[in-house]
Formats: sequence, C-alpha cells, structure tokens
Amino acid sequence: MTDTIKINVHPVPNSRIGLVDFNNIVFGKVYSDHMFISDFYNGKWQDFRIEAYDMLSFTPGSAILHYGQSVFEGLKAYKNPSGDVVVFRPEMNFRRLNQSAVRMCIPEVTEEMFMEGLTELLRLDKNWVPDLPNTSLYIRPYIFALDEYIGIRPSDNYKFIIFTCPVGAYYSKPLKVKIETKFSRAVQGGTGFAKAAGNYAGSLYPAKLAQQKGYDQLIWTDGVSHRYIEEAGTMNIMFMNGNKLLTASTGDTVLSGITRDSVLTIAREWGIDVEERNISVTEIISSLKNGEITEAFGTGTAATIAPIELIADDENDYQIPVPGPESFSTKVCEELDSIKTGKKKDTHGWIYTV
Ligand SMILES: *Cc1c(COP(=O)(O)O)cnc(C)c1O
Repeated sequence: MTDTIKINVHPVPNSRIGLVDFNNIVFGKVYSDHMFISDFYNGKWQDFRIEAYDMLSFTPGSAILHYGQSVFEGLKAYKNPSGDVVVFRPEMNFRRLNQSAVRMCIPEVTEEMFMEGLTELLRLDKNWVPDLPNTSLYIRPYIFALDEYIGIRPSDNYKFIIFTCPVGAYYSKPLKVKIETKFSRAVQGGTGFAKAAGNYAGSLYPAKLAQQKGYDQLIWTDGVSHRYIEEAGTMNIMFMNGNKLLTASTGDTVLSGITRDSVLTIAREWGIDVEERNISVTEIISSLKNGEITEAFGTGTAATIAPIELIADDENDYQIPVPGPESFSTKVCEELDSIKTGKKKDTHGWIYTV
C-alpha cells in the first residue's frame, strides 16, 4: 500500500455486544457496532468514515432501488491463538469487487480505502470477532448507486459500505440439491461472474420451487443447453471421483470463488488430480449410478465446505455417502480452518493480520 487515507472515526458511546449470545448466533442476523462508509461524488471516492451501524437515508428515487446497480463481496475474519484478528485472502475480494463493479458500470474502489477501511473497522470492532469453534466474523463490503433519477444510465453517486456480522455455521446439515434444467442463473456475456445484486434476486424463484419439492438448493447448469454443471446455489461445486477432483472451469457464467481456488490449491499439493473443465450432467449421473462419485460438495466463504448428500435429476434421487473423517471434503475443510484461524502455518500468504 502506497497512500494512506484519512478516516474519521466516530465510535459508538455504548457497545451492543453485551446483548449477543455468542453460543447461539444465527447467520446474518447479528450486526457489529460499526460500519465503514465512503461516498462517491464529483468523480471520486471521499469522506471516509467509521460510524455506528445504523439506518441510512436516501430518496425513493435512488437508482439502486429500481435498477439494481449494486455489487457486493463476502469474506471472513477469525481470531488466531494469540488473539490477533486475521482475515482470509482479503486482496482477492478487493480485486473481485472491482471486477464486478466494472461490469455494472460502478466506479472501482481503491485498494487503500478497501484495505484501510477494513483494517480500521476490524480494529475498532475486534471484540466482535468470535473465537468459538465454527464461528467467525462475516464481512460484507458493497457498493450501490444513489442518483435520484428515473431513467436508465450509470449513476454519478454511490456509497461503499463495509459492515460485519459475527456468524456460526451457514448450513447445519448435508444438502439435497436438484439439477436445474429450466431456469438459468447465468449466460455467456451476462453477469454471472460478478457478485451483482440482481443475480441473487433472479435465483430465488427457481430455488423456491426446488425447496417446495423438498430440496435445499439447485445445481445450476449452463444457460444454453442445460447439459453442463456450473454451480450449486451460491457456491462452486466439486465432485470426487477416485483420486480426481472435478469442478467447472470459471468464466462468464461460473463465479471465480476464493474458497474454490483455495481448495484446488490444497488438493494439488496433496497429489490429487484436479480437473477444471466442462462437466456434463450425463457424466455425473452415470458416475453417481455406478458409485464412482464418493463425494460432492459446495465451496464458498459463508459455508466453507457444504457436503451434498443427495443429487436429483428430473427422474431420480441419487444418494452420496456422508463424508467421514478421512474424506477429502472433511480434511480440506479442517485444513482451511487451521490456516484461517492461524493454528497452522500460512505457507501460501493467505492470511492478513489486522
Ligand atoms: C460468492 C459466490 C461463490 C463463492 O465464492 P467465495 O469467494 O468462495 O466465497 C460462488 N458462487 C457464487 C454465485 C457466489 O456468489
């Protein structure tokens, strides 16, 4: 980092932390005391500040409310055994936020404001970083358009905010997922690679239909032929077949997950054959039928590794063994946890100490 920015810090007079039961935190329902904010106007990001996590006010005509010009990120902080706050690969989230921003005509944020805003916020709210097993502090940076204008064009005014939530596990049990062959999450040339707000609104209805049939989530297939597997819900998806770890290549339609990259890196170091390629539904169904697939799981920051116990196509349900202590998904999840919480040496340069 070359430059530093001036952040005005307004700490709250009374922390809300005493109200939180850290043994029973529901994912995404508890918010830490402070947030970092910057406004974009007159062509630049300015007015860097940290203040109480509180209501915002903007006009009913604000562009974000109508056309969804908004992008977000999700990353996590942990406490290491010495009690320092550490963040997992934040520079990757910084880069991806800007890649998403470019696609949505949103002005990019600077590395200084992202990293220094994050650092100062985490220093101030360090008591909110839980240290019980399977807990962490989820961090949500996002940008949204604020012009008061009913017409479609990129906004001239935006807000960038980072707030944080202490969280526990995202999923409490292995998932049942259904291969989606009608609706699409993403298409070539679309916005699937971006963490753009509207992508998630569009995925709710197909997911709801699957949930009404008793499944937890969908497996998205390509938007043209619905013959190739892309992602599972808002996670990347992986399959273990013998010593081969299979996952879809990233591109326009498959989001480049940081958990995905971390899992593949560790797998390669462990001597597993990693195949990033087109994976057809037919291949997966026939490997499920003959029992070659021993594991299937989703990867993402919120859930880390989410084991899949059942995959359904339009006709049948296929069971997948629940992972045991020696399964790849269990071991890679433990390995990532040890690295993220500083229990194991960080040989990849993945840990940022606040
Ligand atoms: C965020 C996200 C992922 C996972 O990315 P991570 O960097 O591992 O958290 C995967 N797919 C979609 C669609 C996502 O939004």
